Amino acid sequence: MAKIIKVGKKNSQYDVVIARNAITKTRLSKHLKSKNKILVITDSGIPSKYIRELKNLLSFKKQLYFHEIPCGEKSKSFSTFIKIQEKLADLKFDRSDSMIAFGGGVVGDITGFCAATYLRGIDFVQIPTTLLAQVDSSVGGKTAINIKQGKNLVGSFNNPSLVLISSKFLETLPDIEYKSGLGEVIKYAFIGNKKLYKLIHENSRKIKSRNLNILEDIIEESIITKSKIVTQDEKENGIRAILNFGHTFGHAIEASKNYKGITHGAAVTLGMVIAAKISYFEGHIKIHQLDNIINLIDSLGLESNYEKYKFKDLKKYLSNDKKVSSGKLSLVLINSKGLAFKTNQFNNKSLEKSFA
Ligand code: ADP
Ligand code: ZN
Repeated sequence: MAKIIKVGKKNSQYDVVIARNAITKTRLSKHLKSKNKILVITDSGIPSKYIRELKNLLSFKKQLYFHEIPCGEKSKSFSTFIKIQEKLADLKFDRSDSMIAFGGGVVGDITGFCAATYLRGIDFVQIPTTLLAQVDSSVGGKTAINIKQGKNLVGSFNNPSLVLISSKFLETLPDIEYKSGLGEVIKYAFIGNKKLYKLIHENSRKIKSRNLNILEDIIEESIITKSKIVTQDEKENGIRAILNFGHTFGHAIEASKNYKGITHGAAVTLGMVIAAKISYFEGHIKIHQLDNIINLIDSLGLESNYEKYKFKDLKKYLSNDKKVSSGKLSLVLINSKGLAFKTNQFNNKSLEKSFA
């Protein structure tokens, strides 16, 4: 049975459907019945059998178009953005038409941003195919492209009208991408979802072997947590900051490597260990809680050792983080109740000690 989660405030609510195979003809035709034209954005790394399947399922639409972008972060660019906008205009898309993002976070971010800006906004559906996109970027409405000054600096908040999550796509995901997604999953366990924590703790072997039943449960729990937070704070003025647990140092690690050789989730996982250590040195959690965090990460075969990153090297990247406001470094820490909180009140010594 499919799981359905309603995300967002009453007048802008959308369904997130999670199932082995969430993309059914019935669901698609019901949702898209009033739409004339559909443009599906995919990337060159999405297995072609998935694309064929989707084409088939959408064949009831006479005006169905596909646009493939090269896979990888470099496609989140102005040049891709313009190509898609021009395609929409050439095909004479109007506000009664719709876009579908069919891929990982890269496809989701650029499609969402194109849909937000073409004719000042047209409908779009998210069909995330990576674990990271399923538990994170497809929910919450953040869309963006990169410019040379930084990642995700140009974008908008734009909610999809529907999110369809098929766990079966995870079967073909490269291991490194799968682990990257798990990094964001455990984040939700660490910032307060105790049910998810238990689920991961008791099923680490099944998660490692990509048991789809367990994965559907952990995707559901991840989205429940994210949805509660983003519904309260759609535009990131307050509580949404706790979703950045692990991200201050995670982003610094990614930036220090010029976004090469480490995935987002792997960097965030190390960032969470650093933030947990600072939480310990600041007296917010006990040593056994710090150990539990590291053990959970290790039990999934993720890397928890950040020895090779030195504070002095990461420091200059910390202040570039979007979350720095009025020049102060703010960090998301956790407390003994297992809840996350944002603070800029901490001792620099705790920071340095965490890297000692
Ligand atoms: P993320 O979702 O982590 O932001 P990307 O959107 O860059 O990552 O996707 C990571 C890579 O995985 C891309 O090369 C993409 O083509 C590929 N990919 C996406 N979904 C699948 C899948 N279900 N099976 C295999 N490869 C996939
Ligand atoms: Zn993240």
